[in-house]
Amino acid sequence: MTGASDIVDNPCQSCGACCGYSANWPRFTIEPDEALDAIPAALVNDRQSGMRCDGDRCAALAGTIGQATACTIYDLRPDVCRVCLPGDAECNMARRKFGLAPLT
Ligand code: SF4
Ligand code: SF4
Repeated sequence: MTGASDIVDNPCQSCGACCGYSANWPRFTIEPDEALDAIPAALVNDRQSGMRCDGDRCAALAGTIGQATACTIYDLRPDVCRVCLPGDAECNMARRKFGLAPLT
């Protein structure tokens, strides 16, 4: 997802679905150690393999999915979060889970 610092009409600001799709979603991949070390430890899962989640929802997500959301570690977010873009296949899969209309 993108974050609160983006343009006002960014669809992510009223969505957040990809951040609540699955605990397997915000996993770490090829980030350098320095990037992972910068993420607050309380927001990293016990296996150190990805973001801590409450159920399917990433612990770094603030707000209400489908209404108003923001990533509280936007500048530090994992790579998988950076490559999900509004309207791509993963985005619309996540939006579907929450009954949100697909983006084109
Ligand atoms: S599901 Fe799509 S629109 Fe929603 S926050 Fe993620 S990238 Fe943005
Ligand atoms: S780190 Fe941020 S962008 Fe990534 S899943 Fe969590 S709340 Fe969403």
